[in-house]
Amino acid sequence: MKNAFLAACLMCLCGAVPGSAKARDNLETIYAAKQGEIIILNALDLVKTTVGPENLKFFIFEKEYRPLVTGGQTLFIIGVDLAEPPGDYDFLIYCGVEIIFKGKITVLKTNFKTVRFKSVKTTPSVSIARRIVEEDAAIQNAINSGENQKIIFSRSFVCPVQNPKVSCPAGNFGVYRKWLNGHISRHGGIDLKAQYVPIQAINDGTVVLTGNFLLEGKFVIIYHGLNIYSFYLHLSDICVQKSQLIKRSEKIGASGNTGFSKGAHLHFATRINGKIIDPLKFVEAINEQMKHYKSCLLLTSPKIGV
Ligand SMILES: [Zn+2]
Repeated sequence: MKNAFLAACLMCLCGAVPGSAKARDNLETIYAAKQGEIIILNALDLVKTTVGPENLKFFIFEKEYRPLVTGGQTLFIIGVDLAEPPGDYDFLIYCGVEIIFKGKITVLKTNFKTVRFKSVKTTPSVSIARRIVEEDAAIQNAINSGENQKIIFSRSFVCPVQNPKVSCPAGNFGVYRKWLNGHISRHGGIDLKAQYVPIQAINDGTVVLTGNFLLEGKFVIIYHGLNIYSFYLHLSDICVQKSQLIKRSEKIGASGNTGFSKGAHLHFATRINGKIIDPLKFVEAINEQMKHYKSCLLLTSPKIGV
């Protein structure tokens, strides 16, 4: 049934007479992805285009994704936020204004750990709270620059430090941090063991923001295209500036212990279209897919194929 379904989809000719290439409503495929991970779909497994595949668009979670066209593949790199509620989500593939494919992605629950702190999280003063809000707004502005059609990287990704080791357990991605007074927060990145060592950009990109914020300490945020951003926090030194073009593996600073940090380390994070995803799994998954073509599904297998 799965093969028959794909064969039917291969007949959808993008760029044909409007109305003749719409996906059939009674055909749907459901894929699965876990909270905090990415799913990579090769559009050419699902649809056939008679125009450039870069004209395809993918919609899910009320976000638009443009494809990465590389090595004969047309990849949609979809981020599933660590807090995305489990359940089924519709996705659509457009060519221009025409829907040429419909499907569903099931978000599966990830069992994130809880780390309990033996201290009380203090309530910040009004001025400190205002500063935190303003600094968070500056970061949100930097990662909502609307450049999602721009693709800057064309090579695989590297890790920001050599021989990365996760600083456990508090450094684990997505963990719940619970204070004695009941306050709970999430950890949106990975803490890597890195004591005052050089930090490198994980791929080509543009620096969209640097600063020295209350929580983040000295930090760098790099935009790589396709709404993919990488974050490097708690640095002791920054050697790049906003709007600077960066090459993969170029030094951007040194790890440190600035901001809300207890001990020198690197807080490394990635976001796709604003979705908070595990940075190490992101690097591993996208490199695997860019290295060689496998199938339309990298991290998951179809839950239901009709
Ligand atoms: Zn961290």
